[in-house]
Amino acid sequence: MSLSLSGLTYFVRTFGCQMNEHDSERVSGLLESVGAKKAGSIEAADIPVFMTCSVREKADTHLYALVQALKSAPTPRSGLRTVCIGGCIAQRDDEMLKKHVPIVNVVFGTQAIPNLPNLIVSSRETPTSLLVDTSEPNTAFTSELPSRRASATQAWLPIMSGCNNFCTYCIVPYVRGRERSRDLASITYEARALVADGVKEITLLGQNVNSYQGKDGEGFSDVLEAVAKTGIERIRFTSSHPKDLTQKIVDVMAAYPSIMPHLHLAAQSGSDAVLSSMNRRYTKARFLEVVEMVRESIPDISLTTDLIVGFPGESEKDFLETLDLVKRAQFSSAFTFIYSRRPGTKAASLDLGYTDEELHSRFNRLVELVSAQSFAFNQRFFSQETEVLVEGRSKKDNTLYTGHNPENIAVHFSADEGEDLNGKLVNVRIEQARTWYVTGKQI
Ligand code: SF4
Repeated sequence: MSLSLSGLTYFVRTFGCQMNEHDSERVSGLLESVGAKKAGSIEAADIPVFMTCSVREKADTHLYALVQALKSAPTPRSGLRTVCIGGCIAQRDDEMLKKHVPIVNVVFGTQAIPNLPNLIVSSRETPTSLLVDTSEPNTAFTSELPSRRASATQAWLPIMSGCNNFCTYCIVPYVRGRERSRDLASITYEARALVADGVKEITLLGQNVNSYQGKDGEGFSDVLEAVAKTGIERIRFTSSHPKDLTQKIVDVMAAYPSIMPHLHLAAQSGSDAVLSSMNRRYTKARFLEVVEMVRESIPDISLTTDLIVGFPGESEKDFLETLDLVKRAQFSSAFTFIYSRRPGTKAASLDLGYTDEELHSRFNRLVELVSAQSFAFNQRFFSQETEVLVEGRSKKDNTLYTGHNPENIAVHFSADEGEDLNGKLVNVRIEQARTWYVTGKQI
């Protein structure tokens, strides 16, 4: 069996987190390395690939409908469609997926990306059988596979994967396995190659980058420093668990201007009782100490967070503790979620203990507070100069460019016609500061 997909087309549809987006780039790179070409749409592709996410409950039904819809799409050019499902739902459900989406041909788990071309070739030889690889071979880190980056100037760089924390609402440790850190030499090698390729911003990726552990005892601060020394212009990282953020990491962040003054630190709740039930392993007071440690070293940092409303057993008093935490931590923005029960997690069997009305009232009050803080934070940019890495034209108004400033605020701006600013770092004077973005003019 020769491993070639030449003459065939693929299309990857991605759901969920940055880790999935990065895995999708690896899938694309891998399929192209064996001759496949990108199709114009998922319907037109000989090899439609769905990279799934199991974090939200509705994701499953949405995915099943999208995949099954391919059944009524015209047959692709080669005369045979090989439907592949990867990511967290694939890892969790393996051959059970066939029950919900009979059209599926290949199911590949989070560790099986390197084997995907093999699975596709075999499946095309025996199209009626379902091929499944959800084993955990734990061999090559997927980052050592070829990649087809979605952006020429921004790149994901995974430094570790998996998680050991077992937060009681989260499925990740079950579908991504335990923490595995990538060799520092391999990370630095890839960072240097990205710089040489014209990349301006690297985002270091991992379920909990702060607990990175290199084989010679290196920690996340060493990774940050090594990547900063490659000369890359901007470094970001995600996700950070508050319990593992150390002074050493913060010191390196403060020492290198290329490490952006933005930290996403997921708080989830401000109530000690809820945090304990979530198994987050910090208290509200400890979280605020971490915030203080960060602000002492980087006073102007933009601090963002994730918050869950309606975790099982959350009382009004617990919720008020969350509002208080938001005010005291002075988050510049937050992703706010309504708790979603995930089968297979510990929290799934707990009683909710509140009404829908209470839940929505809490959610609305939280969004209102977060929005007000965001609006207040963004005012600091009014009439100031800020540096933007240009990502393209604004979707709402294509006379404007769009990008993010160092604090990770979306900036939409006008510029003189002529030079193409895509992928460039430009200075913008801010003329208006809104709740979720700011607008201005190139200087
Ligand atoms: S730290 Fe908690 S929420 Fe984050 S991936 Fe691990 S278990 Fe899930």
